[in-house]
Amino acid sequence: MNNVLLICRIVFMVHRHFDSGEYNVTMDIRVGHGYDLHRLDSPENGGKKMVIGGVYIDSEIGPVAHSDGDAVMHAMTDALLSAIGDSDLGTLFPNTSDENENRDSKEFLAEAVTRANAGGWAIGNIDVTVLCDEPKIGPLREKICANLRSFVGAPITIKGKSHEGTNRGGAIEVHAVALVQRGVQT
Ligand SMILES: [Zn+2]
Repeated sequence: MNNVLLICRIVFMVHRHFDSGEYNVTMDIRVGHGYDLHRLDSPENGGKKMVIGGVYIDSEIGPVAHSDGDAVMHAMTDALLSAIGDSDLGTLFPNTSDENENRDSKEFLAEAVTRANAGGWAIGNIDVTVLCDEPKIGPLREKICANLRSFVGAPITIKGKSHEGTNRGGAIEVHAVALVQRGVQT
């Protein structure tokens, strides 16, 4: 109970402090968009294990990529970096570097989250759209979201779309939008 009273007292004092007009705190809110694309193919043709948002899925085809080819992680990384006005995936982790060959894309996203935290940014949410004909995202959605939520520490939403019979069926495409916010004292 004493703790509750103490917290109430601090909240009251902070309010009074800001109400005094000594400081103005405004929220800096930004969005960033990320996009990624990988060709999907059989292992004989260079396809790696199918991985979407850190979840491995049984499939006869997988992403052709330098890293592990997790397009969801790649798009989310770029969305987050873009929102905080930082670098981008290709610059931080070039696909010409041996170090990044077969690399777990969680490390890319972890770097973006670390940079966001270091800049004082709180991640509001990240919304993801996955375009691929196979596998279907619907049945995997909850598992992928739960995995990403625990990893990023913010709400993540994902929905799947098909390529609607166009000639892009042999690929996985991902769009991601990230919202970040931080208080700025003026
Ligand atoms: Zn990629």
